[in-house]
Amino acid sequence: MARYTGPVCKLCRREGEKLFLKGSRCLSSKCAIERRNYPPGQHGRDAQYRRGRASDYALQLREKQKVRRIYGVLERQFRRYFRRAQQRPGLTGENLLSILESRLDNVVYRLGFAESRAQARQLVQHGHFMVNGRRTNIPSYLVRPGDRIEVREGSRKRTYFKQLRQVAEDWVVPEWLNRDVANLSGEMVRLPERRDIDMTINEQLIVEYYSR
Ligand code: SF4
Repeated sequence: MARYTGPVCKLCRREGEKLFLKGSRCLSSKCAIERRNYPPGQHGRDAQYRRGRASDYALQLREKQKVRRIYGVLERQFRRYFRRAQQRPGLTGENLLSILESRLDNVVYRLGFAESRAQARQLVQHGHFMVNGRRTNIPSYLVRPGDRIEVREGSRKRTYFKQLRQVAEDWVVPEWLNRDVANLSGEMVRLPERRDIDMTINEQLIVEYYSR
């Protein structure tokens, strides 16, 4: 599956807020938002002062782009998730967030086995994880309640996973996941709900964007 490969801090600067795409760097003074909080590009700094009131469309577009970038999903896939969310009972915006949170790369990140979703995606693609005992290297795999995710036996000897046990201890795992750090495994206990997602997202704007 294709993914964005350009500079990621630029994406945060475009959205004007931290999207936490780079792990620990995002919490340091090296974060681009801390140093240059204006849109990227030659006229980014001027645009900062020229900006008037954004149109409804601009607000909807920016919200959609922001969420897409947080989860590292390209437009076509994101639209597919939206259609899937519409087919589920309940509120489409909330369903969309629940689907995005259920992606295997996001679950690996939420379990504290990776510093960022991008890193989680790479670890999954390199085949370090198993879902229900089967090696799974598809980051977009949608995890279901009851699914067990674990680091593959052969990967546990790697320095990264050996050190991970100490690092992951401090990581706060959301309520919809259960984690066993000693065994480098976890389980989805229920589907993620809107109240579990602690990011400032206005999903209604995304629904409006696709309902134009
Ligand atoms: Fe965004 Fe992280 Fe880069 Fe800061 S360091 S701009 S939060 S990706």
